[in-house]
Amino acid sequence: MHTAQGLPVIYNPGFKRLDGIRSASARPPKASEVAASRIVNDIVSQGLQVNDRLPGEAEMLAAYGVSRETLREALRILEVQGMIAIKRGPGGGPIVTALNAYYLARTATMYFMLAGATYNELFEAWEVLEPPMSAKVARLSDSQMKKEAFEAAEMATEMSSGDEALFTAVNDFHAVIAQLSGNRVLMLLTQAVNHIVVDHILESGELMAESDISHAHAGITEAIIAGWPRRASQLMRDHIEEVVAFVRSRHPERMDDVIQWR
Ligand SMILES: [Zn+2]
Repeated sequence: MHTAQGLPVIYNPGFKRLDGIRSASARPPKASEVAASRIVNDIVSQGLQVNDRLPGEAEMLAAYGVSRETLREALRILEVQGMIAIKRGPGGGPIVTALNAYYLARTATMYFMLAGATYNELFEAWEVLEPPMSAKVARLSDSQMKKEAFEAAEMATEMSSGDEALFTAVNDFHAVIAQLSGNRVLMLLTQAVNHIVVDHILESGELMAESDISHAHAGITEAIIAGWPRRASQLMRDHIEEVVAFVRSRHPERMDDVIQWR
């Protein structure tokens, strides 16, 4: 573990900002937030799919009983959170978008920044999340299904290029494990952490040799498909530690930097 350098959290001045888990100080939701959550409820309960249109403005005004200004603010909230996209121009309007952990990552980085959380802590969280998740996936009995999921991710990686290739290569492998875990909370949290690691750290510096990464990924894949939970967990831990050690060797100063909101 690389946590020896981490400060005990209690001394972190950033924690003064935190309000624990008490919600007493949280203000009541605004009308636009209430409308936004009702729209999300309807998207879910009506089974709307990606690219499906939301109802027209008049219909939504009647359904939610809010002013036009409040409805527009509600839609704006959902747009910023990546839940919908607003198509401009004639025939435009709000449509449902695919769930993308990037938006969760972006919101999380705002909290992390205000809490004074460092990249060191981000890596620590990554190490807490992924090794046990890899073990959980290794315990799944359907090895053929696991094999096909990894093969599909590998094909996606081979077909991507440039900047996209970096993100796909790092994320698709880890995203497959997250998805196979069958736990959507773990999946979204892990994907958000992966987004921050890739977008904030890996893209800004020299990359680890691709052969090292694919070697590590291949070993983890093998352990997961073969159904060896302890080995899968250990190899994932080694892999993350290797990435962290690499980043630390290239950018030692960045480890204690506060995570930036972006
Ligand atoms: Zn990896």
